[in-house]
Amino acid sequence: MNRTAAVAGLTSAEVAERRRADGPNVVAKPVQRHLLGRIGHQLADPLVALLLIAAVVTAILGDLPDTAVIALVVFVNTVIGVVQEVRADAAIAALDDLAAPTARVVRDGQDRIVPAADLVRGDLVRLEAGDVVPADLELAVAERAAFDESSLTGESVPVHRGPGEESGSGTVLTTGRATGIVVRVGADSSLGRIADLVSRTAPGLTPLQRRLAALGRTLGAAAVAVSAIVFGLGMLAGQPVVRMAITAVSLVVAAVPESLPAVVTLALALGARRMARTRAIPRRLHAVETLGSVTVIAADKTGTLTENRMSVQRAVTATGGRYTVTGTGYTPTGTIQPAGVDELRPLALAGLLCNDADLVKPDWSPAGDPMEAALLAFAGRCGYDWVTERAKAPRVAEQPFDHAALRMTTAHHLDTGGYLIVAKGAPEAILDPEADSDLFAAAREFAADGLRVLAVAAAHSARPDIAAPLRPAGLVGIGDPLREQAAATATAFEASGVRLLMITGDHPATAAAIGSHLGILGPGDRVARGDDGPLTAADVAGIRVYARTQPDRKLDIVAALQQQGEVVAMTGDGVNDAPALRRADIGVAMGSGTEVARQAADLVLVDDNLATVADAIGEGRRIYDNIRRFLRYALAGGIAELVVMLAGPLLGMPLALLPGQLLWINLLTHGVPGVALGAEPAEKGVLRRPPRSPQESVLGDGLLGSVLAGGVAVATVVLAAGVIADQAGRPWQSVMFVVLGLAQLGVALAVRARTTSGGERNPWLPAAVALSGLLQVAGVVTEPLRTLLGTEPLTALELLGCALIAVLPGVALRLLRHGRA
Ligand code: ADP
Ligand code: MG
Repeated sequence: MNRTAAVAGLTSAEVAERRRADGPNVVAKPVQRHLLGRIGHQLADPLVALLLIAAVVTAILGDLPDTAVIALVVFVNTVIGVVQEVRADAAIAALDDLAAPTARVVRDGQDRIVPAADLVRGDLVRLEAGDVVPADLELAVAERAAFDESSLTGESVPVHRGPGEESGSGTVLTTGRATGIVVRVGADSSLGRIADLVSRTAPGLTPLQRRLAALGRTLGAAAVAVSAIVFGLGMLAGQPVVRMAITAVSLVVAAVPESLPAVVTLALALGARRMARTRAIPRRLHAVETLGSVTVIAADKTGTLTENRMSVQRAVTATGGRYTVTGTGYTPTGTIQPAGVDELRPLALAGLLCNDADLVKPDWSPAGDPMEAALLAFAGRCGYDWVTERAKAPRVAEQPFDHAALRMTTAHHLDTGGYLIVAKGAPEAILDPEADSDLFAAAREFAADGLRVLAVAAAHSARPDIAAPLRPAGLVGIGDPLREQAAATATAFEASGVRLLMITGDHPATAAAIGSHLGILGPGDRVARGDDGPLTAADVAGIRVYARTQPDRKLDIVAALQQQGEVVAMTGDGVNDAPALRRADIGVAMGSGTEVARQAADLVLVDDNLATVADAIGEGRRIYDNIRRFLRYALAGGIAELVVMLAGPLLGMPLALLPGQLLWINLLTHGVPGVALGAEPAEKGVLRRPPRSPQESVLGDGLLGSVLAGGVAVATVVLAAGVIADQAGRPWQSVMFVVLGLAQLGVALAVRARTTSGGERNPWLPAAVALSGLLQVAGVVTEPLRTLLGTEPLTALELLGCALIAVLPGVALRLLRHGRA
């Protein structure tokens, strides 16, 4: 490779050509399901297989109407199943695209951010701390570059790598900076090679999906048992064997909500897509359901609750001068009161030298650490031009900031000879508690006002010795405005039963001031400190604010909270946050954070705004509600069908409903109305009720009881209608057929969300119910359907009577319903 290519990167033409040759840079290609495969998958369902056998048997026997109904049921079920699967896959694929990793490359001589999948061999990639290496790279430049290679080697101690060495895809640059040329992509890369060995497993089911699958098996077994009894009763009553066998099969099909898995997957996937629209991108489907049961959210103060837009507001010098600083944003102009800033200049100079940030013209946007950028704006307000000053005193040695030492030190060569050593950091890391007691007092005062305090010290030295003893220059108090909705967000979490905790590296007094301002810290509450010693589960119960907390302590906080039985959401953005994000039940990464944090997280907040999490929790609760809604409706209907078929013979109706009639009802009730329930809006007050316990069964909190009650209520009105019709000498079976279908649809309306009057509406549900209701009535009204289903005509008055009796269970359910969905 020639030199210009190494600096300017590839050209667009070269990129296109290589991508054609090598394919995209993805480790495991997503398995594209074909339409035929999807149809086969639907037909392979045991219930459908049973139906297909029944269709063949009825056809052989010449019972063509039943064959036709069965074929119709299989057809409609397959179409609905395939459509739901395609929609769910599309929603999930769209999310994958939104959350896809990106890489910073140089192409055509310009830096740009591209999807990591677009990288080709020869691309020049830039890495910063926190980046996940997007393809195998040969390093060209490496400055203090250390890589966490545990994803490849299992060894978690970072490895230093220099120019000429390779860094494998999937490893993480933890510190420093690097530039490298892509040497291998996709399946050929390090990650691709192991991905080939270990992965290939389909994405796992979420806990809810697993629980529902188990529930489905139980239901299936119960339905089979009841059907066997119905079969036996029919035989005793002298019904023909084949007809009873087909009836038993139809009953199993009708009673089991076969669309349950599809409804759940679709509800989760569409919910995930809706969250993504509100700028919270779920990276895993399970996040959607887990969000609804979050009990604690531990949030970083800086950037999440505050804007991370820093400005120096006050300053104190070692000689006792006190100053107030004003000015907007990072623009290096503003005023300092009192005027005459000579006394401040050493403080300002040290602050601009011991500093890695920059302000980018023309709008003075900060590059680098916002707090350091604030020091540049402050220096500007004191009359310094930092570009000139930095050029006059080049940096020759440094001790970078780290969260353990809480300070940063640099050494500068002076053109006047000798060296200037400068340090800045937390007051306790810079000042002497006895000699500098005045400054400590000022620091406490700043902190109590919610300002972050930075102490600055400097000294001349003959050698560039960063351990040289320094003299304090003074303090600055740096403000970071709370996000506009921060207080409202804290209140919203409180109302929804989610405890909001604040985590910060700042001084306890600063943290306490901001915590009280947000209303999460009460007057007597304790502020925990990072140097308090090990955290126990008992400790974390009462603590709302964690100060002087290093990122790696977050993992202990999560673990201790989980030991207390909490379901924990934790925010993070840095390299060190990844373990805690992974450990938390819901890891929440900032969109502006590092790639490694985003990949470790379950939820990515595009706008970094904690308020978005509150919305996502509401969405999670709504989805769970809708799944329970579907269960309440579908299970009650199934139970009603089983009860009717069981009780019929006892009431002198040997075969309460014909197989075709059962399947018709199944088609009209489970199909479209079931799917429409998944689109119900959130219940009013969804964010004002306590979180659901993660241990609670999906049928818990009274759902099972109300399912049973609903099923029995529907069966009761159906049987009552049948008996009345029978005594009047009317076609009782057709009456029961109409009432059973309509009564189930009434239940669908009864379980719909209770919303506020002006709130969101779901027009699909009433539309689906109306359509199904019409088709149900058509089953006895139109001649072709009568032949198909074996029904008899009913008069308009009789139909009206059926409708009136059929609404009773729904009305009762609606009136008696309390608590959650
Ligand atoms: P947070 O987690 O709230 O962002 P940090 O851990 O970044 O807090 O910072 C903790 C403390 O360390 C700050 O209050 C400040 O005193 C000090 N500090 C932070 N960044 C720097 C830096 N770049 N140089 C010197 N000191 C710093
Ligand atoms: Mg910070």
